[in-house]
Amino acid sequence: MVKKRIAILGSTGSIGTQALDVIAQRPDRYEVETLTAHRNVALLAQQAVRFQPNAVVVADETKYGELKALLADQPIKVYAGSKALCEVVQLPGVDVVISALVGIAGLMPTLCAVEAKKQVALANKETLVVAGDLVCRTAQESGAPIIPVDSEHSAIFQCLVGECCPVEKIYLTASGGPFLNAGIDELRHATREQALRHPRWSMGAKVTIDSASMMNKGFEVIEARWLFDLKPEQVEVLVHPQSVVHSMVQLVDGSIKAQLGTPDMRIPIAYALSFPERLPLGVSRLSFAENPALTFQKPDMEKFRCLALAYEALRMGGNAPCAVNAANEVAVDLFLRGKASFTDIARLVEVGLQKNDFIAHPTLEDYLKTDERVRRIAEQA
Ligand code: NDP
Repeated sequence: MVKKRIAILGSTGSIGTQALDVIAQRPDRYEVETLTAHRNVALLAQQAVRFQPNAVVVADETKYGELKALLADQPIKVYAGSKALCEVVQLPGVDVVISALVGIAGLMPTLCAVEAKKQVALANKETLVVAGDLVCRTAQESGAPIIPVDSEHSAIFQCLVGECCPVEKIYLTASGGPFLNAGIDELRHATREQALRHPRWSMGAKVTIDSASMMNKGFEVIEARWLFDLKPEQVEVLVHPQSVVHSMVQLVDGSIKAQLGTPDMRIPIAYALSFPERLPLGVSRLSFAENPALTFQKPDMEKFRCLALAYEALRMGGNAPCAVNAANEVAVDLFLRGKASFTDIARLVEVGLQKNDFIAHPTLEDYLKTDERVRRIAEQA
């Protein structure tokens, strides 16, 4: 069997390390071609020594010397800079690109992978939030398949295998995060530690804060719109604190299909790599007897203002979701550094959306300019 050669953008992160765990379980199927990190060269070098990729890239160029020294006795090419991220994913040796960077930093390398007709296993939802139309159009033109890694979208994708009719609607499930039962007043004083304490998933800091504010779910609504070609009203969010049902599809005859399992990201990562096959995977199995109650409720859009703003941006279209993403990235960073309160996140996103110069049909350059401009607005608001 010919092995699939895999590039992981963001191998040192939560998704990246879990992807390596999946790859390590099937050395007969997968081979690591490229690994990348932002700054964590110690872990990147450790991963490189173990998985022996052809190349590694550190996005922060100031870390090049350190990484080069750590890998001095290894037959591994070492590159630095964000341009190198785009170049390595396009190399002929790469079959699949796992896009697991965080934030808009994922847009350019993911777009490059799509342009080069690579199969993309997409975790970096911000790519579709910022420029979903451009990325999906490019994928259609090049024929590059985009397979979702986000557990909800993987669930929908799995439910749709074998279906040929358009879907009526989808239900995206949400755990509700650490503040599901908190009052609006409590949110004002929510600390970094409280917001980082996610009840179900262990993830990187940015997506954990996005989950606490439910901006993550808003982004997933936008991501679903592009991945499955849906209208905003066809995507409904349901709070499901047990995180057992990963999402559901309602078909035109009223049937509903769901995908269930333990909340373990290695399942959707493995599926994105092996699709259309399924391979045995060493993760714990779901016990229905231990999870007898599966509950569902509508989200509180007033408390979780970020979710409402994401829907609003999606309905507006154009560069509005890009503006929301930019303001959110700034706000989350300020919150994590103790320079903004938790409720400032929604406030800054709202300001970013209101002050955005709306462009109905943005080009790539327009998206990048929108990101830059709205970041400045949010930093000063
Ligand atoms: P992490 O923060 O854990 O990891 C991010 C990775 O990207 C790290 O390898 C990091 O390198 C690298 N990185 C960060 N910033 C840059 C940059 N500017 N340029 C280049 N590389 C960069 O994030 P997660 O793994 O949690 O999330 C990754 C993506 O997957 C996000 O879009 C998230 O929304 C999505 N996702 C995550 C899930 C999860 O369970 N974690 C679930 C579903 C989706 P370094 O380590 O050096 O900083």
